[in-house]
Amino acid sequence: EIILSIETSCDETAVALIKNGTEILANVVASQIESHKRFGGVVPEIASRHHVEQMTVVTEEALQQAGLTMDDVTAVAVTEGPGLVGALLIGVNAAKALAFAHGLPLVPVHHIAGHIYANRLITEMKFPLLALVVSGGHTELVLMKEHGSFEVIGETRDDAAGEAYDKVARTLNLPYPGGPHIDKLAQNGEPVLKLPRAWLEPDSYDFSFSGLKSAVINTVHNAAQRGETIRPEDLAASFQASVVEVLVEKTARAAREYDVKQVLLAGGVAANQGLRKALAERFSDLPQELVVPPLYLCTDNAAMIGAAGSVAYQKGKRADWALNGVPGLDLEAQ
Ligand code: ATP
Ligand code: MG
Ligand code: FE
Repeated sequence: EIILSIETSCDETAVALIKNGTEILANVVASQIESHKRFGGVVPEIASRHHVEQMTVVTEEALQQAGLTMDDVTAVAVTEGPGLVGALLIGVNAAKALAFAHGLPLVPVHHIAGHIYANRLITEMKFPLLALVVSGGHTELVLMKEHGSFEVIGETRDDAAGEAYDKVARTLNLPYPGGPHIDKLAQNGEPVLKLPRAWLEPDSYDFSFSGLKSAVINTVHNAAQRGETIRPEDLAASFQASVVEVLVEKTARAAREYDVKQVLLAGGVAANQGLRKALAERFSDLPQELVVPPLYLCTDNAAMIGAAGSVAYQKGKRADWALNGVPGLDLEAQ
């Protein structure tokens, strides 16, 4: 079984070829970061236009890297949502065209299911499992009792973790996307500043990052008004310590309560060195196996869509030619 998978939900045009749901034959990602940088964030109209330009090139490149033709492909999988509607539509229409032209089944994939299934490209998934999803638009704890079943037991009530990283980075005048820059600064800083931790209700697995984000911005402004300077490294380290402590503790508590076999890390913020280190330390003496994907599978890519798409294909999930991009697609309804 060979899945050709397409991802265009945000600002990466990506195509992959995945064998039997686990083996990467090709994984091509064309990033648009350079085009969005000067605007400090993703401009939807520009994203769509880049996807149109890149879609065919990236698809041909992926087939060439894998040494395959469309005749070798079993099914076409594509991100249906969530994401920017205009961006999603480019991938969805490319997938429809390829599937139609070559008489192949079309398999719709949820982008966050993709982030979670990135882990299946490095290890076997063992159920029940808990996924900590931390990305640009999502921060969720997802319980999976079997393949293709997703129960969101906690989610952010305001900003996503990645969003908070990017907003704090902007306050420090760092380029977009700010997450990796904060991560790097934090490695050379000390968490000396007192910043809040949003634990919420004692039994809640929800998250909140907007209060922390505001606290960072206020700290910077107050210091500026007093003519004091804060080392950006220390600010980054303090912010990151607050984010990471809450993420790790809630994940560990949920892993115990739901008695899961595995804990999977997923999403762009999974690339964060501080988070990876803290999770590894916390789970080193816990019974759950911790799985952390390599960096190239954390941020958006199509390999993860192929991994999730393979499972959906095996389960008989199909889309017809009316498939559309769905910006607010529900994970639990998958
Ligand atoms: P979603 O997956 O929720 O739809 P998205 O696809 O835009 O959102 P991803 O590509 O999964 O998001 O992740 C991008 C986010 O990850 C950005 O907010 C970016 O700043 C953040 N990020 C990437 N690397 C790091 C890092 N090392 N530390 C912290 N944040 C990071
Ligand atoms: Mg992106
Ligand atoms: Fe993503």
